[in-house]
Amino acid sequence: MRLSVVVPCYNEQDCVPRLRAALLHVLTPLTDEFEVILVDDGSVDGTLDQLRALARADSRFRYLSLSRNFGKEAAMLAGLAHAAGDMVALLDADLQHPPELLGDMVALLDKGYDQVVARRTRTGDSRTRSAASRLYYRMMNRLVDVELTDGVGDFRLLSRRAVDSLLSLRERNRFSKGLFSWIGFDTAVVDYENVARTDGTTKWSLRSLVNYGIDGIVAFNHQPLRLAVYLGALCTAAAFGYALWLVVSALVHGTTAPGYVTLMCGIIGFGGMQLLLVGILGEYLGRIYHETKRRPHFLLKESSHAPEAPCADD
Ligand code: UDP
Ligand code: MG
Repeated sequence: MRLSVVVPCYNEQDCVPRLRAALLHVLTPLTDEFEVILVDDGSVDGTLDQLRALARADSRFRYLSLSRNFGKEAAMLAGLAHAAGDMVALLDADLQHPPELLGDMVALLDKGYDQVVARRTRTGDSRTRSAASRLYYRMMNRLVDVELTDGVGDFRLLSRRAVDSLLSLRERNRFSKGLFSWIGFDTAVVDYENVARTDGTTKWSLRSLVNYGIDGIVAFNHQPLRLAVYLGALCTAAAFGYALWLVVSALVHGTTAPGYVTLMCGIIGFGGMQLLLVGILGEYLGRIYHETKRRPHFLLKESSHAPEAPCADD
């Protein structure tokens, strides 16, 4: 098998027919040896029925169905784990990742690269969203030890070596943008124009974006914990200075009763700071808790092939 294409699908019944046509259009001239692995991530619409029909009609289309919605990261992992190709492409079902790019990407991989990533321009994004994401990436790259690039998502082509490396990372909290970058290997970039989603709806809300952002920071480094050390040192130094000033002033002018404002500011300020830092500790603790349970990343409900395949990923 030369090329596997992995597509996570969550409630994408409107996209599947166009996706099939677009993939066939691109893949048929590229190679005879390809497979498309569609991963139904616990969809509640007609997606699974469509995937079943597709796999029945054309054996090059295979599907996996997860037992519930495990999230895109898990769906991609399931697809990667079942892909047999020497190279594996990851792309979205909504055609926001134009399959036409696959030709160029395959050519680059053949030149010896292990990862070919597609980078999108941000045309069409709202100005606040692109400004927020620029700011986020600038901050991330200062905090995190791996290099992350704005506009680079999960749309990419991986060599067998890169796929096996990714599969060998067993962590539960998967922030794949970071994982892709962490495994290293020679990486090439191709640019493409941003495409607006035409069918179905995006699964990202503002809240899930913010949570994703926090995941990215916490999954890849422990710098935020260091914040506690710096803040603690700063506050202690400030408190010493202030105490000294109070003592001297009491000695010179005698004690005066007022201090309500100072006290309140101190209590509220320090209370807030402590809660924040406990929260940061909790973020790490929660992750350790989940890692130690060692639950599988996903459970399979059915698949188009090998019914005797293990139903979990380990
Ligand atoms: N997706 C998934 N599981 C989820 C959410 C999304 O498999 O829980 C898939 C979805 O079907 C699509 C891809 O991930 O193929 C990207 O999702 P979406 O288009 O909503 O994200 P966006 O393009 O807005 O970043
Ligand atoms: Mg999309």
